[in-house]
Amino acid sequence: MTTTENVTVYGCDFCKKKLFRKHAMERHEKYCLGKPENQPACSGCVFLKETTVDISTGSDYHGEEGYRAVKAFECTKLEKLLYPIKVLQKGLVERYPETFQDQELMPNKCEHTKFYLTDIDIIPFNNRYNIVK
Ligand SMILES: [Zn+2]
Repeated sequence: MTTTENVTVYGCDFCKKKLFRKHAMERHEKYCLGKPENQPACSGCVFLKETTVDISTGSDYHGEEGYRAVKAFECTKLEKLLYPIKVLQKGLVERYPETFQDQELMPNKCEHTKFYLTDIDIIPFNNRYNIVK
């Protein structure tokens, strides 16, 4: 077993993560999901759907444009494609700009957010719960 003393450990202000490099922790904190402004209004919202989008892979040997289907999130209320903050955390927007060119970061606040249970009345029935639409 080895122990190292007098090593500076950087802890995240928003979650329990600890890192040895200051610059890595600054980057982590910027995108940490424990940070309130990084939590998307879309989690659990009825309008968020998983979808696929076709990304151009350029021309093939015959000069025909190729496409590749990639997973994406769509807000069916705003009719927009949205990506989660994890995408920024992993640096994917810089690495694959063509994949995200028509997409926006999921908002932190949204006036249309609607959760699955909000307009369902729960009525107690024989000590069990009946969900009535
Ligand atoms: Zn964190």
